[in-house]
Amino acid sequence: MDWALPVGRVLGVRLRLHYLFLFLVVVLVGMALVRRGPGIAALVLLLFLVLFGSVLLHELGHALVARRLGVVVRDITLLPIGGVARMEEMPERPLHEVLIAVAGPAVNVAIAAALVPAAVVLEAARLEAWLAGDPRSFPLVAIVAVPNLAMAAFNLVPAFPMDGGRVLRAVLSARGGYLRGTRQAVRVSRVLAALFALVALPTGEWLLVAVALFVWWAGSQEERTVQVRAIRRALEVATPLAYPAAGGRWGQHLLN
Ligand SMILES: [Zn+2]
Repeated sequence: MDWALPVGRVLGVRLRLHYLFLFLVVVLVGMALVRRGPGIAALVLLLFLVLFGSVLLHELGHALVARRLGVVVRDITLLPIGGVARMEEMPERPLHEVLIAVAGPAVNVAIAAALVPAAVVLEAARLEAWLAGDPRSFPLVAIVAVPNLAMAAFNLVPAFPMDGGRVLRAVLSARGGYLRGTRQAVRVSRVLAALFALVALPTGEWLLVAVALFVWWAGSQEERTVQVRAIRRALEVATPLAYPAAGGRWGQHLLN
């Protein structure tokens, strides 16, 4: 996590670029430049900026709502697989967790909602020509709406580490408490991971297999983190002098 380059602040939140992310940008833009020329290389760079601009705005949605609710936001890091907003101890109050979790996908939906009418007005002819097979009529505005909708949809899948997993946990926690809600949400995550694997394995969709493994692993991690926190808290209540640094751990909001 710490192989990242600090690049300043956006709306008061520190932003960092992971070195693997920078490496990927340089390699892909460089390959496009060597093989396809400066025009395509510029287009690849532009797509990167637009895609990761959307990821950054998604993470800022989480970060700004969290900060508003009193959570200390440490920073946002962009990685090749998405973004991570690190915050101190995610709140366990269900309403707060829902608000923070939903803020990210809501940003993507808002971006797409603004882009679709803009694309219809500005790019109707370009879109038609592009769909008919003319690569020069690249409909950039319409294209940017697609990953934003995909990002919102993927992140609302009710499994960890996606935002939907947090929403599900918050709903379940409201009834049976945080630890129990987490365990139930992790069970749902595992069922979904198993379903992903069942669909993916026979068709050889290895990316989906990787997602299934990741979802299974992330659910286990979340359960362990919440369990450890509950045990620590019980110990802190029992022996306060032995655990002076209550709440000192950084919670992490991963991916999405
Ligand atoms: Zn998110």
